[in-house]
Amino acid sequence: MNILLLGGGGREHALAWKLAQSRLLDDGGRLFAAPGNPGVARHATLVTLDMADHAGVVAFCAAEAIGLVVVGPEAPLVDGLADSLRDAGVAVFGPSKAAAQLEGSKGFTKDLCARHDIPTAGYVRVESAGAALAALDRFTAPFVLKADGLAAGKGVVIAETRADAEAAIADMFADAGAALVIEEFMAGEEVSLFAITDGTHILPFGSAQDHKRVGDGDIGPNTGGMGAYSPARVLTPELQAEALEAIVRPTVVAMAAEGMPYSGVLYAGLMLTEHGPKLVEYNCRFGDPECQVLMLRLQSDLGEYLLACAQGRLGDLPPPGFAPDPALTVVLAASGYPGVPSKGGTIGGLDAAEATGAQVFHAGTALDDAGALVAAGGRVLNVTASGADVRAAQVAAYRAVDAIAFPDGFCRRDIGWREVAREEA
Ligand code: ATP
Repeated sequence: MNILLLGGGGREHALAWKLAQSRLLDDGGRLFAAPGNPGVARHATLVTLDMADHAGVVAFCAAEAIGLVVVGPEAPLVDGLADSLRDAGVAVFGPSKAAAQLEGSKGFTKDLCARHDIPTAGYVRVESAGAALAALDRFTAPFVLKADGLAAGKGVVIAETRADAEAAIADMFADAGAALVIEEFMAGEEVSLFAITDGTHILPFGSAQDHKRVGDGDIGPNTGGMGAYSPARVLTPELQAEALEAIVRPTVVAMAAEGMPYSGVLYAGLMLTEHGPKLVEYNCRFGDPECQVLMLRLQSDLGEYLLACAQGRLGDLPPPGFAPDPALTVVLAASGYPGVPSKGGTIGGLDAAEATGAQVFHAGTALDDAGALVAAGGRVLNVTASGADVRAAQVAAYRAVDAIAFPDGFCRRDIGWREVAREEA
């Protein structure tokens, strides 16, 4: 069967690497990717497709007899690409536009949780600065303020004081038509739990912990993620079962009952509070860079699971197998990130890095006119390794990082620190 993978980041390189090993391609099937990147190109034929042009993507699928489309990023899902493909009879891994509201609208998700008693922070939705200021009286510091809509991780402000919250509200309502969710602050440790579902059946798909801040010790501005490790052992089997039964399953049931069955990967950002796991947010796609560590550990055939999910047959499959050894990924970013990253920095030493046993997934890379690999985005490479424990995986990943020559790049040196501290305690 032919497969089309959409997206061009480190997540998609990890998906392409794993899909390329799938039995689905055994019959001479081809893996296509758009736009991909030089890493994805090692496993797939890159094609040019505009994800916003749904008819164009559908036409490509017909022309190339695509049996499965895998959508990596959230924007095309929130934009309804999966609906257009399904309407044309193409099997697609990824939720409909209505179901992708779980990521696309924080207000939608909070209201769904409220209607179905799904544990999450108490909240109000407001649509004017005046209403937002009045609503602050119902909360205590720190104040959690969230823009309602996709904001690429930049729409959340946690204000330590009321004055800071008032200033943030003024800022957020400077744009006409803004809507805000104000939430109760939840104290605890955050983890990511992944599940794939066809709208009825749910299979857990691993856990991870990421590192959002740009600097060591979790300081500095937020990023798309500077590294991750899997599994997140702080999410014990008991807590994972509780989160699946109290949060993920009721969400899948509620979405189906409300006429928006959810099909694809459901990524639950959880806060482990003293009262148990609570939902921070849902994402409607794999995390980036969490996907990279999940793929390194996945022992099952990714293509078979994604196809069964797309075809509503997940009930036929056993839970997927994951290697017990932890995996850890370190993001190499271009200087300037998460502000304006410098482009064109030269990259060398990837063969030496992979010779250590690590996998180097490409994110923002490109080939220059001379065919040399250069940086072309904020997050550039994801150096991913496994080990007997998180400390060993960390040592292995940084050994590979140190084999890479990327003078214009930087990385955090402490990925996995929480778990390493627990291991060494
Ligand atoms: P991203 O998708 O990049 O994680 P986002 O813009 O979708 O971010 P959220 O995930 O909802 O926003 O919030 C971003 C971060 O803010 C969370 O990862 C968490 O660290 C913190 N946060 C959000 N809500 C709360 C809350 N109610 N209590 C405590 N911390 C919170």
